Amino acid sequence: MKVHEYQAKDILESYGVAMQPGRVARTVDEAVEAAEALAEQGASMWVVKAQIHAGGRGKGGGVKLAKSIDEVRERADEILGMNLVTHQTGPEGQKVRALLIADAVDIAKEYYVGVTLDRQSSMDAIMVSTEGGVEIETVAEETPEKIHKVFIDPTIGLQGFQVRKLAFSLGFEGTAFKQATKFISALYTAYRESDATLAEINPLVLTEDGNVVAVDAKINIDDNALFRHKDLAALRDVHEEDPLEVKASEHDLNYIRLDGNVGCMVNGAGLAMSTMDVIKLAGGEPANFLDVGGSASAETVEAGFRIILEDPNVEAILVNIFGGIVRCDRVATGVVQAAKNVDIDVPLIVRLQGTNAEEGQQILEESGLPIETAILLKEAADKVTKALATPSTA
Ligand code: GDP
Ligand code: MN
Repeated sequence: MKVHEYQAKDILESYGVAMQPGRVARTVDEAVEAAEALAEQGASMWVVKAQIHAGGRGKGGGVKLAKSIDEVRERADEILGMNLVTHQTGPEGQKVRALLIADAVDIAKEYYVGVTLDRQSSMDAIMVSTEGGVEIETVAEETPEKIHKVFIDPTIGLQGFQVRKLAFSLGFEGTAFKQATKFISALYTAYRESDATLAEINPLVLTEDGNVVAVDAKINIDDNALFRHKDLAALRDVHEEDPLEVKASEHDLNYIRLDGNVGCMVNGAGLAMSTMDVIKLAGGEPANFLDVGGSASAETVEAGFRIILEDPNVEAILVNIFGGIVRCDRVATGVVQAAKNVDIDVPLIVRLQGTNAEEGQQILEESGLPIETAILLKEAADKVTKALATPSTA
């Protein structure tokens, strides 16, 4: 789960990670109030920042400096409500519903610090670079020698020498060195304790007066750990997510929208992945990944159909269910019931395999509904691509 910058900063600050002070605002008046409150604490310049779940906001015009409260008002008015397009939002952009008003810092130098899980070594990795404020992917590609990494065995934890090595590789000295070591240690603790999959500071800055502080912050929380972080789960902002994915999660369906034209409904993530492969092999393009889970009940199948059909790109649907724990005849009854409740206006191909597959197929055939059936997955995929080629009669 992603959170906004202001939320990530709050989380990290609670672990003692040094943050540039700031306040969230949802209206222009609130932005002015936030700037005034920061001025009382010493701010004389502000930065007005769009809060969306995507990076690259600076380049897209979503991060602006303001030298006076009047300028804060003007910048807030411009950015709030704008449709911000960055390399991470895609061309459709994302509407700005909140701002972070921060006490602007005088930047001497920008750095990068990130913590993530390295699946290959089964260890956490902390990466630092002197090339901050730049997309880290670009640095990794063009000048990989400028990224320094340490790997942390989670059973041993982060060691002092590792932290010093990282701070040293960034060229810090004296007080800044001490601040950098404290910063990195606190960032790692925050990452571990909040069950994050990523904690990234880009840029970490050395200020003109010699302090080390985060100017931007990103933290992604492992969805599977949210049950034990109710406070973090409450930070979810559904406005930032695909509406169909939000709807699917309400029905406990694992749905990811893609840009093809074949809707697919499958039980089990592995089977869903291979179904997508077979659709591609047959010349189609999957419109989604959808795992309805083990039970594939009439309710989940119906919810699945509704979600798939809300995607206007869908021109055919392939249902591929393996009857292991759930029997195919029950699934078939569910499909028939769901197909009666939902107006399915595209060709529907159903492949049932496993326990009671023949009974299942019979139920589908006798339903009188325009459902094509298949036994082999290849056969099912071919029927889908054929259906795409012929205009729908349903
Ligand atoms: P991003 O573009 O979404 O990654 O947003 P950032 O928060 O990283 O801001 C983009 C850039 O704006 C930073 O790399 C900085 O160069 C600049 N910036 C952000 N905050 C400040 C600030 O307080 N002072 C100054 N001088 N520049 C800032
Ligand atoms: Mn940034």
